[in-house]
Amino acid sequence: MSEPNLAWTGVLARIAQAAAHANRATTPPQLLAVSKRQPVAALRALAAAGQSAFGENYLQEALPKMAALAELNLSWHFIGRIQRNKTRDIAAHFDWVHTLDRAEIAQRLSAQRPATRPALRCLIEVNISGEASKAGVTPAGLPALVALVRSLPGLALRGLMCLPAPTTTEHEQRLPFRQLRQLRDALGDLGLEELSMGTSADFQAAIAEGSTLVRIGTALFGPRDSS
Ligand SMILES: *Cc1c(COP(=O)(O)O)cnc(C)c1O
Repeated sequence: MSEPNLAWTGVLARIAQAAAHANRATTPPQLLAVSKRQPVAALRALAAAGQSAFGENYLQEALPKMAALAELNLSWHFIGRIQRNKTRDIAAHFDWVHTLDRAEIAQRLSAQRPATRPALRCLIEVNISGEASKAGVTPAGLPALVALVRSLPGLALRGLMCLPAPTTTEHEQRLPFRQLRQLRDALGDLGLEELSMGTSADFQAAIAEGSTLVRIGTALFGPRDSS
């Protein structure tokens, strides 16, 4: 450990507080540090504080960061849109994928996962707010995609993910997160323990509805470089 990172300890404290408020003090969600458009030095500083899981959205940006920090044994989560021509590198380099949303991508990731690595841990992204522009399988399409992913040897399905449309009140924020949890529960006992939900803007609401992985960027790193 080097000097304490105040943003990191502050976010962890807010997560712990939200978990306690939801009667989950002993099972708080894991913090995924969303490091897109942040420089390697910022990731290194957070890793030095004790953060081990990082989320990246863009493959071209993630690969050099992973190489630069390879000696730190971090875990890497892919949380961006998955383009067909990027599946080989995603399957080779990442530990988790949160944004699986169609059969073809699942089949490619499974076939391309190197045999030397354990099955790629996956979450299926659900378009819970029904926005036309958003990624994610529809709730109606979810059971068939779940069945397919569970049949693929290179993938290990661990849960569901959503990125709902922004709303303002905690009550409104909780609704889509509750829907995702209920969709998961309706699938039956398939070991889908992870619910990846909540960002800087709404992680307290997500924790109240059972989030196990909060994806937080801005609150940890400050604003992103938009260049
Ligand atoms: C960028 C991003 C986040 C983090 O958002 P912040 O508002 O910076 O906390 C979380 N999830 C996904 C899928 C993202 O693309």
